[in-house]
Amino acid sequence: MRTVHIIGGGPAGLMLAAHLDPSKYRVTLFEKKKTVGRKFLVAGEGGLNLTYTASIEELTTQYSPDGFIDPILRQFTNDDLRNWLNLIGIPSFIGSSSRVFPDLNLKPIEVLNKILDHISTRGIAFQLDTPWTGWNTKGQLCFEGCEAVDSDIVVFALGGSSWKVTGSDGRWRTTFEERGVHVVPFRAANCAFGVDWNGDFIAVHEGKPLKNIALTYQDHYSKGELVISNFGLEGNAIYALSQKIQHTLLTEESTVIHLDLKPTLTIHELRQKYENSHRTKVTDILKKDLNLDRTAIGLLKQFTDKDTFLDPDRLIKTIKAVPVIIHSADELDKAISTLGGIALDEVDAHFQFKKIPDTYAIGEMLDWYAPTGGYLLQGCFSMGFVLAKHLNELEVGEAE
Ligand SMILES: Cc1cc2nc3c(=O)[nH]c(=O)nc-3n(C[C@H](O)[C@H](O)[C@H](O)COP(=O)(O)OP(=O)(O)OC[C@H]3O[C@@H](n4cnc5c(N)ncnc54)[C@H](O)[C@@H]3O)c2cc1C
Repeated sequence: MRTVHIIGGGPAGLMLAAHLDPSKYRVTLFEKKKTVGRKFLVAGEGGLNLTYTASIEELTTQYSPDGFIDPILRQFTNDDLRNWLNLIGIPSFIGSSSRVFPDLNLKPIEVLNKILDHISTRGIAFQLDTPWTGWNTKGQLCFEGCEAVDSDIVVFALGGSSWKVTGSDGRWRTTFEERGVHVVPFRAANCAFGVDWNGDFIAVHEGKPLKNIALTYQDHYSKGELVISNFGLEGNAIYALSQKIQHTLLTEESTVIHLDLKPTLTIHELRQKYENSHRTKVTDILKKDLNLDRTAIGLLKQFTDKDTFLDPDRLIKTIKAVPVIIHSADELDKAISTLGGIALDEVDAHFQFKKIPDTYAIGEMLDWYAPTGGYLLQGCFSMGFVLAKHLNELEVGEAE
């Protein structure tokens, strides 16, 4: 039997372990932490959004670069993921906004344990608390605290570089660069962005949500929710634009997003409501006739001069496009995911390194992006499955 060494026990590595053919491979999974799936559990703290319900055509539009994820998701779709989870005792349901979550009776740790129970039936060996440190001159894998090992096939699933406490610290970057592999520098994605609030506004509105809003950035649009924080803005509406904003911030000191406080109403409809009002104070009209809450009105005032505020035409146009200046992204370690990682042209269509024989990389450690909404976990699970399928189909000798 050939040996497969999987390094990294997150969703991508675990999914691979769950699907490799035990009659063909002797599999060991190495994990630097004392337990696997730590980031998966952190994801569970905010509601474990496993995937998203949509057609494959719609689903794939959320990932970049274009075309990268399509063949992967087509081989293991969102329905396939739900069916497989169900098969191993993890029923799921479609929540608000088409997001998929585990059955409400299942805690994230129970979901993880069910995946691990399933893996345990497949004879996988776990070597925990064993950080991989690189290769020796013989090309063997080196680990802290154990002998160097020979492998027939190595799969890295080391994750991105945020929430270092979970083990995904991106320290592997220099080790791969020393092997001549191009690693795109890490940057925060699905993260908060910095805004200079005036002191009065933030004192009153810190922590308050702006619900059912929309954002436009260049030619990109996203709907959802924002939360006002001392640092700036966070929430799914801005996370969805994070890759584009980060791209601009590479070369510009700041950039402007436009916030639509009433995406369900047109300028014309808002204007009519305004005109039909019998109230005289602008703030009362905004509150009672246009149904804007205190935080939305506070934000509007923050980015509107007095003349605009008192001119209904200009004010309504601003309600549909409040210009908010973004000056920075939040710290990498606080990000939900990271941009950067192993450049995609370093691996072939089966995730195999072009420069390192019989060695593969899957999951967030590759340089791809998706917004929050279950797309990240779906991408990682699909990659684990697709690579297992490929390795299971390899003829003996092909991987040598
Ligand atoms: C707060 C938060 C909320 C999230 N919520 C969601 C959500 O609801 N839905 C969603 O789709 N996604 C969510 N995500 C993102 C999702 O959790 C990640 O994209 C996913 O876990 C990445 O899986 P992975 O297997 O590629 O890597 P990881 O889960 O990061 O796992 C990598 C593993 O490799 C190990 N490792 C690293 N270096 C070494 C080494 N040198 N030696 C040995 N082992 C090593 C790490 O310890 C880790 O266990 C969230 C992330 C965060 C931080």
